[in-house]
Amino acid sequence: MQILKFTSEVEEYNHYNELLEEEQLLVKAAIKAADNAYAPYSGFSVGAALLLQDGTVVTGSNQENVAYPSGLCAERTAMFWAGANHPQKAIVTLAIFAKSEDFEVVDPVYPCGSCRQVMSEYERIGKQPMRIIMTAATGKVHAVNGLINILPVAFDADNLKR
Ligand SMILES: [Zn+2]
Repeated sequence: MQILKFTSEVEEYNHYNELLEEEQLLVKAAIKAADNAYAPYSGFSVGAALLLQDGTVVTGSNQENVAYPSGLCAERTAMFWAGANHPQKAIVTLAIFAKSEDFEVVDPVYPCGSCRQVMSEYERIGKQPMRIIMTAATGKVHAVNGLINILPVAFDADNLKR
C-alpha cells in the first residue's frame, strides 16, 4: 500500500484590485451579476462571470426555487448559457463573487461540488486550464490556474473509455 498525495496551488490577494485589470473587470461583472440573483430563501447572492477565448463575457447568478433542488448556482447558470450560445469556445477565466443579506462574506467562496464537476467538463472541451477567481464581499481573493487545484482526480470522460 502507498499513500497518494495531491497538492493544490492557490493564489491569495487581499483585494481584487491587486489582480490584472482584465481580471478586475471580470470580478466587477460578477459583482454586478450578483445583484440579479434570485435568492429569497438563502439570502445568499452569487454572481459569476466567464471570459471566453474570443473576449466575450458571460454572466450568471444563482436562481433559487421554492422546490429547492430545482434552483441552480450562478456558476452553472453562466456556464450552461455560454455552452448553449457559444459552443466550443474555451472558458479562459471564471470569476465568482458572493454576498449575504445576513452576514459579511469574509472569505472567498469556492464553487460547490456540482459546479466543479461542470467546470471540469468545460475545461476539457476548452483544452486549456481554466483560471478561477473566487472573491468575497470583503474583496479578498483566492485564485487558481486550472481546476485540478480545486478538483483533483476528477471523474471525466476518460473513465468511460472502454
Ligand atoms: Zn454550485
